[in-house]
Amino acid sequence: MLDLHEATSPEVGQAISKGAVAVLAVGAQEQHGAHLPLSTDTVMAQGVARRIAEAIGGLLLPPIAYGDAWNNEGFPGTLSLSPDTMRAIFMDIGRGLSRSGFRALVIVNGHFGNREPIALAARLLKQETGFPVFHLDYPGMEQAANDICDSKPAAPTFYHADEVETSMMLALAPHLVRMDKAAAEYPTFPATFGMEAISLSTFNKSGVFGDPTSSTAAKGEALIARIVDESVKLVDLFLSDR
Ligand SMILES: [Zn+2]
Repeated sequence: MLDLHEATSPEVGQAISKGAVAVLAVGAQEQHGAHLPLSTDTVMAQGVARRIAEAIGGLLLPPIAYGDAWNNEGFPGTLSLSPDTMRAIFMDIGRGLSRSGFRALVIVNGHFGNREPIALAARLLKQETGFPVFHLDYPGMEQAANDICDSKPAAPTFYHADEVETSMMLALAPHLVRMDKAAAEYPTFPATFGMEAISLSTFNKSGVFGDPTSSTAAKGEALIARIVDESVKLVDLFLSDR
């Protein structure tokens, strides 16, 4: 594994000549309640991406610390990029990796709002340059959360500043977690949620969705291990004929 942030140019050249795969974490600058930092999705995605890069001998790129987080703009500190900007960033990075001779790109996405621009960029890059892009959204997360966590999510597969994210942050960056400020909120989702553009602050007070109070670093480690295992299996499949 090579960290592109800290590597030298000759080191990267050597890795490329050996068929290195680039691994890119994508997060968000987004509110996560009173107990987690705005960087939560970026820290988590980079933590998972680093372990995937270690497992596959990949080249870890610097993370993208912004995402499309428009529906949390009602909470201070959230700073959102448009889907067009996000797609353009992925296209530029993909084209650059392709010109540099990388074998492929694996994107580890840590924020729901980035899914569409990532998928579109992956498709356009393939059509335009043939460069292979694989994108992961924490595979196996729902089953792992069911098995490992004590609290229920605020909605199916909706993990935000809850036991899942707080435990993962306790495992990856405990100095950024204010457990004394952790408190549960189970908001009532509007009946039309997902069918129209709704700001989360219109029906949620604290920015927390679920119950972070029983979070532990051990649960976070277990969640990360399950997600990384599942991710590496899928990346191996993706790379098997490339
Ligand atoms: Zn998050």
